[in-house]
Amino acid sequence: MENDDLDTKLNKREKYKARLRPYEYFKEFESLDFENLGEGDRFYLQDFGIFNTDFLEDEFTMRLRVAGGRLSSEQFILVANVVQTYDLTMLLTSRGGIQLHNLEANNILEIWKALNTHGLSTWQSLGDNIRNIVSDPYDGCGKYSKIETYPIIAQMQEFILKNPRYLGMLPRRVSIGISGNSANVVSFFANDIYFALAQKDGIYGFNVYMGGKNTNTAQDADIFLKESEVFNFFKAFVEAFYLHGSRYSRSKTRLIYLIEDIGMDGLKAHIQTEYKKEFQGAGELLLDKVSFCEYEELKDGTYSFCYHTDFARIDSDEIREIADFASTNNLEIRIGMDQNIYLLGLKEKSVPFTSLKKSSTVVACAGNLCPYAVWSIKDETSYIPLDKIDEHQIQVGFSGCAKGCGRHCHTDIGLIGLKTNNFGDTDGGARIFLGAIHTQGATTGRMIFSMVPFVHLNATLCLIIELYEKSGYKDFQEYAYNVLNKFSEGFLALWYLANLETKQSLELKVDNNPALDSTESFEFEKNLLLSNFKDLESLQDIDDKFFDTLSKLVKKLWTVAGEDPNYKPPIQRNKFR
Ligand code: SF4
Repeated sequence: MENDDLDTKLNKREKYKARLRPYEYFKEFESLDFENLGEGDRFYLQDFGIFNTDFLEDEFTMRLRVAGGRLSSEQFILVANVVQTYDLTMLLTSRGGIQLHNLEANNILEIWKALNTHGLSTWQSLGDNIRNIVSDPYDGCGKYSKIETYPIIAQMQEFILKNPRYLGMLPRRVSIGISGNSANVVSFFANDIYFALAQKDGIYGFNVYMGGKNTNTAQDADIFLKESEVFNFFKAFVEAFYLHGSRYSRSKTRLIYLIEDIGMDGLKAHIQTEYKKEFQGAGELLLDKVSFCEYEELKDGTYSFCYHTDFARIDSDEIREIADFASTNNLEIRIGMDQNIYLLGLKEKSVPFTSLKKSSTVVACAGNLCPYAVWSIKDETSYIPLDKIDEHQIQVGFSGCAKGCGRHCHTDIGLIGLKTNNFGDTDGGARIFLGAIHTQGATTGRMIFSMVPFVHLNATLCLIIELYEKSGYKDFQEYAYNVLNKFSEGFLALWYLANLETKQSLELKVDNNPALDSTESFEFEKNLLLSNFKDLESLQDIDDKFFDTLSKLVKKLWTVAGEDPNYKPPIQRNKFR
């Protein structure tokens, strides 16, 4: 194809980049009129950590990078001062960074300058960049730590930050996770690249996984890197993606689509051209599932404390209290990808504050603070059985819309808030995903319910957890692997609905189940339903698939009382502001 033809196919963002590099755009940054931004300005500002939309043009969001989740008490206090002075709302992101909301056109520049000091940076925290590089909060100090990754992360960040060639110039954002621990607080397989602890020929290093995203698991690239090789691999990858990543249809620009297009071997060949060395095949992955407690003993005999935020929200008083305590007691502060704050180096298991919410295992997206949200878990906790989730340490990922920032596909129970008019005048509902084998990135969760109205969500989740309790398994992921994932999605949905309709909680047992892709599987599951719920009329019309029965049963159970099941009222957008 001629170059001119290719240029016309560039997506809108690429056309801006081709005309003016973000590095050049920055020269005009201080003289910008933030009250009158154009489409191009909004694209470019993301490269410096500022987010604004044309449909909420007077609201701004700013994101800070926090490399490896580590920041000093002085930096934390500086952020608290800014939050308080400008009356902002602060969230910890699901990538261990900090996001500030409710900024305005008249204070954005002042805040941006205040936050880009003392080693803090908002650069490249949004846009088509290498985003905040994440690690486990126990990196280097926890009892499962074999390699401390922070020095590598610092080297990577130093390389890309304000680098004119890459600043805002990658085809799409790239999320990178690296952990030298054999057990992590949350899964890293949603990253575009995950460097996972591995061992080869008696040497600890990293296996490389590539192509993850919120709804897909990163795949094994069959590469083992020694600790000293990771940075060079990273540099080679960035250049290869810069040169070969697609810049056409925006929806096909993430790394996963390059892999789909040229294959993992094709991508490896591009990286190798830059890396200039042969790759070694993967080593043995070292990754176990462990439940972490509020206090953990560290390798040096001191303790850590995990402060649970209010679904990622934290106010300036809390920040100050934590930072003052850390400063007085010489503790290290880290932010986890679980949106909690870790204090490391305690002499004993005691801190002068308590976490207020039972949300330690719930990762929630920005919710009502994001313009795309249709539901915010932060303000609607009654829909979720938090006590049970906390009791069993079930990992929950919540996304306020289908973009999936709460990583709902990579947790035990995943939820997406959505609007619906399928059940009459309801406020909306949630999709439910179950069965992710997330620790080792084997599978993402499967969608079991495409929509559960909010008013029925708590009861449905309670039933799911009650059946898990009855199974005797001590870990939800193990239960998913051994029980849930032996059944089809349609069967599971009908099993839960049949229990709800008959007000029972019949345990689900695996008993010589045929393979899910076999021809016998459907008949086996149908017989299981009919034999266990003999008197349930709703199930009697199952023919050669579950879908029609399922659709009738959800309508019967969840349509707002008195409404015609076929009535579809108009969908109203939430008015959070
Ligand atoms: S999942 Fe949707 S609502 Fe939540 S932060 Fe991402 S884009 Fe916003």
